[in-house]
Amino acid sequence: MEQLSLLEIRDGVRAKKFTAVEVAQHFLDRISKHDKAINSFVTINDRALEEAKAFDQAGDFSGSLAGVPIAVKDLLCTDGLKTTACSKMLANYIPPYDASVVTRLKKAGAIVLGKTSLDEFAMGSSNENSFFGPVKNPWNHDFVPGGSSGGSAAALAARLAPGAIGTDTGGSIRQPASFCGVFGIKPTYGRVSRYGIISFASSLDQAGPMARTTKDCAIMLEAMSGKCKNDSTTSNEAVPQWSTKIRQDLKGVRIGLPREYFSESIDADVTKATLEAITALKARGAMTVEINLPLVKHAVSIYYLIATSEASSNLARYDGVRFGYRSEKAPDSLDDFYASNRGEAFGSEVKRRIMLGTYALSSGYYDAYYSKAGQVRRLLRDEFLEAFETCDVILSPVATTPAFKIGSRISNPLEMYLNDIFTTSTNLAGLPGMSVPVRFSSTGLPIGVQLMATHFNEQSIFDVSAALEEDFRAGEKAPHGI
Ligand code: GLN
Repeated sequence: MEQLSLLEIRDGVRAKKFTAVEVAQHFLDRISKHDKAINSFVTINDRALEEAKAFDQAGDFSGSLAGVPIAVKDLLCTDGLKTTACSKMLANYIPPYDASVVTRLKKAGAIVLGKTSLDEFAMGSSNENSFFGPVKNPWNHDFVPGGSSGGSAAALAARLAPGAIGTDTGGSIRQPASFCGVFGIKPTYGRVSRYGIISFASSLDQAGPMARTTKDCAIMLEAMSGKCKNDSTTSNEAVPQWSTKIRQDLKGVRIGLPREYFSESIDADVTKATLEAITALKARGAMTVEINLPLVKHAVSIYYLIATSEASSNLARYDGVRFGYRSEKAPDSLDDFYASNRGEAFGSEVKRRIMLGTYALSSGYYDAYYSKAGQVRRLLRDEFLEAFETCDVILSPVATTPAFKIGSRISNPLEMYLNDIFTTSTNLAGLPGMSVPVRFSSTGLPIGVQLMATHFNEQSIFDVSAALEEDFRAGEKAPHGI
């Protein structure tokens, strides 16, 4: 059953080939058998079987995710189920409500299997910053699964769930999807509600689906999207049924190739994957257009100013009074009390970001850093919009390399940040972006390509993704021993 797509599982439940309880049990058994080796789940939903049973008994299989078990990144609040952001700060936090995205998925019939690991507060690109220990890449346990949604990506690759939720502030859905050989889309900013998602950088954060086929991603995104009264940044834009409109033929589709994205020092296997994807799309009638995005070279700098500034503000609420861990130490003063609570509970990457962000926002530096970054961000967005006048989808690598070895970059934050060079600009511009598995490196690690489109044009991304899926079938292969 674990090889079935999410859609096939849903259809099987509808056709009464298996019950939601049988499906949930199957995946829970797989988690207990395989997850010790990869550490992708941090909490299992003890009520999953009960919820599946209630679903079977209610007998309404009309939901688009009827009886489908899913894994949820541990950054999304789940009612009565521990939500930690993989931080000591929230290690015992049990939310009294579901994030809107979770509510919507459950309403469509999904059963939450459990919560998946991430870099603490979603800050990282390797899942090594989790309070619960690193996640292993199912393709090779010496390698990272990517981050920050590394748990969701690894769980999918290991066939521990047919669908998962990730979040993406600067690449956290797309980069782990690429490293683990699965599909993942960060939708247009405003497509999906952020209500109940632990905030990292509010102007960049979006949740999105991760799965093993294009259509599965589309179906999940249909269920997740739309206006939410609890998040004023959600859009009124209609939510199309992307999954039913995926076109077979790419005749006339214009694929933009940004000169800047191909001039960086890119791993040979990644270049090969990107070029092969371009050739395949051309063979299907798509045409390529060269485009220029000169400001993209500043994207990482802008991103690490804006994301850290917003994070320093968002994370101020974890003071041990209103939220979060409280130190055992008897405080000498109020300042000492806050310092102990925060000092003991935040990991070093989170502290680094809070300090960077606080500095960028401090008076005297605000105009030079935060304001300036905001201005260049606007210009970058305009540059993308201009590019989309001449093309429908932009294609690029997701990351400069395939998955890297655990421990190889963690002591060099700058090297880790530079890993986000191809992904951060879509968040800054609010655009949708997807990672699509294409091929494997010479050492057997998966590699994806990134597809981007203009605001609210997820359809074009799904069209191109489906074509690449059919041509390369890279998502079908399972890691050894799985
Ligand atoms: N890797 C990026 C960072 O560390 C992106 C994280 C994310 O998208 N949540 O900030």
